[in-house]
Amino acid sequence: MSDALRTAFEPGTAVQFLTGVGPARARLFEKMGIVTLEHLVRHYPRTYLDARQFVKVKDLTPDRVLTVMGKVTSAAAHRTRGGRTDFTARVTDASGAVTCHFFGQPWLARAMPPGSSVVVSGTLDPLGRMLNPMFEVVESEIEELLHAGRLVPVHALTRGVTGRGMRVAVRRALDRVADRVVDPIPAAIARGFEPLGDALRHIHFPGDEAERDRARERLAFEELFLLQTVLEMRRRVFAEEGRGLSTAGSGALAQAARAALPFTLTADQERALAEIVADLARPRPMHRLLVGDVGSGKTVVALLAALHGIESGHQVAFMAPTEILARQHAVTLARFARPTGIEVVALTGASSPAERRAIGARLAAGEPLLVVGTHALLEAKVEMPRLGLAIVDEQHRFGVRQRATLAKKGAIPDVLVLSATPIPRTLALAMYGDLDMSQMRSKPAGRGRIVTRIAGEEKFPQVVEFMAQELAAGRQAYVVLPVIEDGGPTEARAAAAEHERLSQHPLLARFQVGLLHGRLKADEKQRTMDAFVAGRVQVLVTTTVIEVGVDVSNATLMVIENAERFGLSQLHQLRGRIGRGAHRSVCVLVPGPTASAEARVRLDELVATEDGFALAEADLSLRGPGELWGMRQSGVPRLKLADLRDERLLTRAHEAAKQTASADPRLLDPAHRPLKDALLRDYREALELALAG
Ligand code: ADP
Ligand code: MG
Repeated sequence: MSDALRTAFEPGTAVQFLTGVGPARARLFEKMGIVTLEHLVRHYPRTYLDARQFVKVKDLTPDRVLTVMGKVTSAAAHRTRGGRTDFTARVTDASGAVTCHFFGQPWLARAMPPGSSVVVSGTLDPLGRMLNPMFEVVESEIEELLHAGRLVPVHALTRGVTGRGMRVAVRRALDRVADRVVDPIPAAIARGFEPLGDALRHIHFPGDEAERDRARERLAFEELFLLQTVLEMRRRVFAEEGRGLSTAGSGALAQAARAALPFTLTADQERALAEIVADLARPRPMHRLLVGDVGSGKTVVALLAALHGIESGHQVAFMAPTEILARQHAVTLARFARPTGIEVVALTGASSPAERRAIGARLAAGEPLLVVGTHALLEAKVEMPRLGLAIVDEQHRFGVRQRATLAKKGAIPDVLVLSATPIPRTLALAMYGDLDMSQMRSKPAGRGRIVTRIAGEEKFPQVVEFMAQELAAGRQAYVVLPVIEDGGPTEARAAAAEHERLSQHPLLARFQVGLLHGRLKADEKQRTMDAFVAGRVQVLVTTTVIEVGVDVSNATLMVIENAERFGLSQLHQLRGRIGRGAHRSVCVLVPGPTASAEARVRLDELVATEDGFALAEADLSLRGPGELWGMRQSGVPRLKLADLRDERLLTRAHEAAKQTASADPRLLDPAHRPLKDALLRDYREALELALAG
């Protein structure tokens, strides 16, 4: 190729100009988000195949996970008696054949037809089969590469693009532009790593593991650095002195409320409160996350903070994720606040139009009220010209956007986010690096223990028997069902059927069984909930409607059906609904008949510990952050290579980001142009808000 042609390729050049790609292929690439050559060289391999780890089929054993490569010689999907469709494939190499059995994965029939080459990893069961092994379908061409003893990259593909086609395209793109991809990392920071061009080459075609790991570290650092920089910029913009309000009073009101509490605050509560009040006092907008396991007593801490806000002459909004919780919070807060003479008003879907108008008018006039509602309070209409503090329950990512809404009319109010999701330190740093955080790890003394047990479906009669005993002793119980489709007809049906089954149960004849699910109208839900709180209903059959915040300390039994369908965090949250009084509580996890062995291992963890933080750490190391605590939806940023468990690299990125943002808070230095461009590409919205702040 002539030099002139070579230089015609830029990282931004469209992939279709690459030899062997063309417009048709380019359209396929585009489906995967690959439009330019830079996209292609940034399309890192999903994994690598390594010939050095392969054994022969005859060498597979029950005690060690080993990997074999072979051909599928026969394959079949078949229905089990339980109604599930399983898939079985026979994998053969020169030394013999092994049967691979996959539970409930009929679609594999299409993925690995007879004749295809596969790599499978696993152990043998007592019958000499591999059950649910890890597998990878490979093209026969890879075999040669593997036999040459290389690490072969395996890229994510799309229909119409083969692994080989992808590898060739990536190779060519690397040859053309790897050294011209602009490095977003400022030179001084990048010095500790290999050059970007080398890293890009080595991540795709490493000579050995060490080379790959060096490349991965470099590229992972880049991802973490971008994320940390954006968080740091946001934190700085909102944390500017003088842009906020001083919302702490002398503390007289809080003192009055405290004096009347039937308990003393725990050391953790004291510390959290002190941190919050110190923030309130400064004319710098607070953005603080108060993390405390379920039952750790966040509400009272929030109330005391709210009283500071009111005392300073400001309005305070307390927002809950659901109507039920908002109403419940209103009642709780009013009770705590009674000794202070401060009025707590509720503005929810259940408020009458007259109430709504009256409260709206008082708020609009700037009266310093403590108003409780759902997150809908924020959505304009309700005017709160003197809003000084917004307390938000269970909305972890109470974002910059909402804060910007709050701030529209002037100074930025303080924001306190309450969260019952314990997060490991590294993850907190990665995801909430722009928030200050107070953690409460201990629970108030005098709580009964929660014993957690696993009981198969066949033990259900004993479970009901135990329930009847608890109810006879004056306690109450929850029965929780998983729902696939929240608020949909399936949810309602499943819940109604279980309600029916329990209502008819002879052992429960003396007791009232209530039903609560997402399909019910707000006032129906409220009536049932009120009856449960008052003890008129003893058993509550429900779905995850009750997940957060419901506080009935007389409830001591929770039965969770098909428990394997819930995430660990959800189970832990659910379990936190019991064990709130002095009585011993029991949580029974009932795995469904199709629960996998893995799912049972997860349930065992729940049996083993009551500490949400310990569970979070365990879950993080078992499964990685993607799956953790449903964070996927809540916006885990664009991390392809970075591992949020890598505390060392994360801390390094965090330090580098702090240094960069403090030297050049708005990224105006031309040397930071590539960084700014990369942030605009990956985090546009967040960055624009930070720059506009
Ligand atoms: P969460 O952190 O899950 O929101 P809550 O604020 O609902 O927890 O508190 C759970 C229960 O513990 C409530 O009934 C509350 O009144 C009570 N509580 C809070 N702090 C203490 C304390 N220091 N000692 C005893 N009970 C407390
Ligand atoms: Mg709460």
